[in-house]
Amino acid sequence: MEASEIVDLAYRIKSGNRKAIAQAITLMESIKADDRAVAEALLEQLGTVNESSIRIGISGTPGVGKSTFIEAFGQLILKEGNQLAILAVDPTSSISGGSILADKTRMASLSRDKNVFIRPSPSGNNLGGVNRSTRESISIVEAAGFNVTLVETVGVGQSETEVFEMTDIFIVLLNPGGGDELQGIKRGIIELSDIVVVNKSDGDLESLSRNTVLDYKNALQLIKPRIKNWLVPVIACSALEKKGLEKCWESIQNLRELLLTSHQLESNRNKQKEKWLIKETRQGLLDALDEDEDIQNKLKTMQGKISKENRSVKSEAKNIIANFLNKLRKNK
Ligand code: GDP
Repeated sequence: MEASEIVDLAYRIKSGNRKAIAQAITLMESIKADDRAVAEALLEQLGTVNESSIRIGISGTPGVGKSTFIEAFGQLILKEGNQLAILAVDPTSSISGGSILADKTRMASLSRDKNVFIRPSPSGNNLGGVNRSTRESISIVEAAGFNVTLVETVGVGQSETEVFEMTDIFIVLLNPGGGDELQGIKRGIIELSDIVVVNKSDGDLESLSRNTVLDYKNALQLIKPRIKNWLVPVIACSALEKKGLEKCWESIQNLRELLLTSHQLESNRNKQKEKWLIKETRQGLLDALDEDEDIQNKLKTMQGKISKENRSVKSEAKNIIANFLNKLRKNK
């Protein structure tokens, strides 16, 4: 892409052109070296992000009601004249072809709204690229004027930490009951959360949900909230019956206010950037390794020999790394 085309693309993004936003995100998701170069130039062209924006992470196990929640919650956010972007980080899509996040068909009314931009989770070859591209996608949608970004993720594996590291406020959705969740796996995610939502608090599940809220409130007393002067609320909610959603939105707004007045929003984002720098550097090094034909050929040759000639994996890997570093030195 020519420099003038990049300038033009940036201009169209800034004027909110959906096609341009989608095209830019596709560039961010690409692992091709040419596309990466254009992506970087484009990000530079777009400049600094909108500091008045708010980035909200939403996590929860498949089936807890994330899509239903976002569909209902989104309406509330839009009522106040906000522009809403919904992005997804899905570690399962490329592995199992499993749960589809930010699925347009499950968010039918939001996907028709002109103030909403939905980007379904990238599928296929995105190993290692999900985190980077989502972070960059946030910059794109913010440059396009979307002031509220929801980043949805499935509560498995590393993904919630990744989303936590790119958002200002982190929300977890839980099912009523969930005794076993309380005991084990969920502790980590509860520690990250700024707002805990017990969804499906309706019908037969309502009284169970009340108990669950109390259980989590008790459990949270033992955990130090990550944000100074913030008591993590546990909110009973029914995404289906649209109950408790106002409370969630109110909590987000209160927390945002606190983050802004205490300058924690800025300092958290700065810390995130510092971490991101390290990740980008590492990723850049890996990309360079993957793109180096000579080194890739050496790796392939060695793969053929390693078992046949009974060589040490560790020392052969060291040789290849030394080779790569030497090449980098010579290129300086
Ligand atoms: P996701 O996989 O977390 O995105 O979950 P979905 O939003 O697709 O919801 C999974 C199922 O739970 C669907 O059948 C929803 O209708 C149902 N569900 C979602 N929210 C609620 C709720 O508040 N109450 C009840 N009773 N069911 C819900």
